[in-house]
Amino acid sequence: MREEFVRFVHHGKPAWGRREEGRLLLLSAAPWSDPKLTGEAVGDSSVEWLAPAEPTKIVCVGLNYRDHAAEMGHAIPEEPVLFLKPATALLDPGKSIKLPRNSNRVDYEAELAMVVGKKVGPGMDDEDALFGFTCANDVTARDLQKKDGQWSRAKGFDTFCPLGPSLVRGVDVADARIQCLVNGVAVQESRTSQLIFVPQQILNFVADIMTLLPGDVILTGTPGGIGPLRAGDEVEVRIEGVGALGNLVIER
Ligand code: MG
Repeated sequence: MREEFVRFVHHGKPAWGRREEGRLLLLSAAPWSDPKLTGEAVGDSSVEWLAPAEPTKIVCVGLNYRDHAAEMGHAIPEEPVLFLKPATALLDPGKSIKLPRNSNRVDYEAELAMVVGKKVGPGMDDEDALFGFTCANDVTARDLQKKDGQWSRAKGFDTFCPLGPSLVRGVDVADARIQCLVNGVAVQESRTSQLIFVPQQILNFVADIMTLLPGDVILTGTPGGIGPLRAGDEVEVRIEGVGALGNLVIER
């Protein structure tokens, strides 16, 4: 059964809700921590959305679609290539990506994201640790990525990890359409069946290295077609069955 969870501002504080027929049923806690319905409900039309995760870290996989590895001039990796984004890079749905002054080339990267639902680490059972999926944009300062030779700065600016709008579970993402649109024009277009390493494989691989905590986020990589964002652009990541994540781009 498909379930959809959202995080939003309620009476000035972050709250979790379950979406049902245009209403948000408030939850007593995050969806992965066995919450109760509080009995309260709100309409979903005038809500301030928050990113639907509470990560201590955002783990990312690079070069995980065959066409993107090719366009970057890399061979197909034998193991997932990992990097981290700081949790402070997280950006809520509808909020603005801020272009840093010291970069002349900031790219979109549409990605399927996993949210971890339980603690899992080396030597621990990780069968049920994948709670659900959402949309992410792995925003990247491409010029700084090349200049630095490693990716912490290029991937780590504040606002460089838009995430949302919903956390969805009970959905089959084995062959879902994934797109990025800039100002309504499709610039990336692929299917998750083109992934080199699939979500559960990635989660197992990461959990064998570092302990993942409930609310942590894993990005699964972007397909081919990367390109630049400019101030004033509207960028949208769409994943079939998962959602559509829209953000504006502004100068910092
Ligand atoms: Mg990426």
